[in-house]
Amino acid sequence: MPKICNVCLKNDFLCNACNKSVLSGKVSTLDVSLSRAIYRLGIEADFSRAMDAGNYMIVLTDKNSSGILIGKGGRNSKRLGMMLEKNLRIIEDTNDEKKLIESIVSAPIVGINKVYGKEEYYKVRMEKRFKERVGSMSPVLSKVVGKEVKLMFE
Ligand SMILES: [Zn+2]
Repeated sequence: MPKICNVCLKNDFLCNACNKSVLSGKVSTLDVSLSRAIYRLGIEADFSRAMDAGNYMIVLTDKNSSGILIGKGGRNSKRLGMMLEKNLRIIEDTNDEKKLIESIVSAPIVGINKVYGKEEYYKVRMEKRFKERVGSMSPVLSKVVGKEVKLMFE
């Protein structure tokens, strides 16, 4: 589903309807910038969500669009990254939290539990050797899965 209408894709302003989607939080400003960049590149691809992950951006999309967004040898994702002044990581979206987290951290998960209580969260167990690289990623992972993700290394 396109995030903004055709008129807004081509212009730098937002029409009333699209502006409403942004104000209500249905569409983020990142979604708007990425949609426009994709349009300007002239590629036919869609995405479900875009998330700021500090020095890079995570783009969740389906299998078909992920190939297009990456492009031959990463050509499209590089060009999009230049337009948005951020490196892009194109990730295939799935309802399987384990798979999603594994593709974002590019490392295997030993176990994942949903912990119920006043505040529901995911407890994700990983091997100790990934701690240095993955240890600081819980805020990003929490954003992606929509619930707090606590990483444990063993
Ligand atoms: Zn519009």
